[in-house]
Formats: sequence, structure tokens, C-alpha cells
Amino acid sequence: MSNVANAFDLTGRVAVVTGANTGIGQAIAVAFAEAGASVVGVGRSSMEETRSLVEATGRQFHTVTADLSSLEPVKGIVSEAIEKFGGLDILVNNAGIIRRADAVDFTEEDWDAVIDTNLKTAFFLSQAAGRYMIGQGRGKIINIASMLSFQGGIRIPSYTASKSGLAGITRLLACEWAVKGVNVNAIAPGYFVTNNTTALREEPDRSASILSRIPAGRWGSPSELGGAAVFLASSASDYVHGTVIPVDGGWLAR
Ligand code: NAP
Repeated sequence: MSNVANAFDLTGRVAVVTGANTGIGQAIAVAFAEAGASVVGVGRSSMEETRSLVEATGRQFHTVTADLSSLEPVKGIVSEAIEKFGGLDILVNNAGIIRRADAVDFTEEDWDAVIDTNLKTAFFLSQAAGRYMIGQGRGKIINIASMLSFQGGIRIPSYTASKSGLAGITRLLACEWAVKGVNVNAIAPGYFVTNNTTALREEPDRSASILSRIPAGRWGSPSELGGAAVFLASSASDYVHGTVIPVDGGWLAR
């Protein structure tokens, strides 16, 4: 490909996006479709809104219903994507949850639930996809990390552990799989308007203090992650391995 714009083209690629029904996952699914990919949306809630948005671009959409709090659906997700669209080129580990409580009160249940969905399932889904991608000699895995991959935060111990762990796993998989043609990278969103941040945005003091630190002067909109996702999913990033790209309105620069 000589034209750099062509390097971002995803025509003919098959992308699996977890948690594609809403928020960041939905925005990434739509961005992939706009760039030419067929999309498999994986999750536990209705994907019909995402289906309409993807199909409006002229691309295909398929739903895999799965609860990602356990490993039970993992192998089936990869085999269904391959069966439906004839391959698997891109995996986005986006599904995630957050539980808030002071560290002194934090429960084992809130620890396990967040680690299981955000970290354990992301690793084993990457493993299942990675086995196929290594076999075909190419593939792109994108983990949705967080500012809590770099910082401590407060009142979210299992979330910080999961997202810091996800950054580590991103680097480990890149170190093992770069030579096999599989790119493993992450995107670290700053503060975006989604269900995940509803509680935070409803606390006036926290909300104001977060906003005052964002150099861009506003919260992000999920569609603003589309460019970074398409970059990491496309051949434009073929020599990019093991990195965590912040898309944060300048938060980390502060
Ligand atoms: P969201 O609207 O809460 O989306 C989370 C997604 O994960 C939803 O699709 C949700 O499905 C899915 N999910 C959660 N648990 C699941 C399970 N057990 N099985 C299947 N799907 C499950 O919030 P979001 O902001 O778009 O979050 C997407 C990712 O971005 C998360 O990993 C989050 O940690 C990360 N992130 C968000 C921000 C931000 O500012 N918003 C910042 C940094 C990182 P349901 O709708 O069915 O619950």
C-alpha cells in the first residue's frame, strides 16, 4: 500500500468487539464499520441499536450473546465469529465494570467481579483469538485500558488493579506475539460520557475537580476514540506493539 490513507482501510476485516451495545464499545464498532470492517458485537444486552448503526454504514453485524463475567463463552465467541464471517482479524477487549467503595470497606465480591470481567476474561479471550491469529500470521488485539493503568485513583481498588494489570498483559502479549505478526496494544480513555462514569458525573465535587484537570476543558465523547481504534486495528500500526495510547484530552500531561 503506497498511500498512507489506504493503510487505515479495514475493508474485508472481521472485528470482534466486546460490550458493543453501548458507550465506548458501540463507538468503536461503528468506527470499524465506517472503515470497512464486518463487526461481531459480544455482550449480554441487546445489540439492536449498534446493529442499526453498523448496518447504516453498509457493513455487516452479527451478535454473540455472552456474559463475560466467566470464561464459559470464550472459545465459542472466537469460533462463532470465524464461522459467521470467515475469519478473525481484530479483537477489542472493551467490556468492563467498576465498583466503588473505600479501600477499608472493599469486599471480596467487588474485587472478584471486576477482576474476572476486566482482566481474566480479557486475557483468555485474547488467548483464544491469539491462537487463531498466530495461525494465520497476523491479527490485532486492542485492550481498553484506563487512566487507572497509569494512576492510582481513589475508591476503586479492583478497577485500578484490573486496568493496571491489563496494561501489563498488553505488554506481555506484545512481547510474545509481535514476532508472530500479532499486534497487541491498548487505548487508555480519559474521562468519557458513558454509563461507566454516570455516578462520577453525578457527584458535583468530583465531577468539577475532574473537569478542572482536563486541559481540553470537557469530558470526551465515545466517538472520539474511533480514530485511535481504527489506527490500532489497521496496517497503519503494523510496527506498533505493546503500547498504551492515552486519548484523554491532555489529562496525563497535566
Ligand atoms: P459502559 O457503558 O458501562 O460499557 C461497559 C460495557 O461492558 C457494556 O457494554 C456492558 O454491558 C459490558 N459488560 C460489562 N460487564 C459485562 C459482562 N459480564 N458480560 C458482557 N458484557 C459486559 O461504559 P464504557 O465507558 O463504554 O466502558 C467501556 C470500557 O471502557 C470499560 O472497559 C471501561 O472500564 C473503559 N473505560 C471507560 C472510561 C470512561 O470514561 N467512560 C474511561 C476509561 C476506561 P451492559 O450494558 O450489558 O452492562
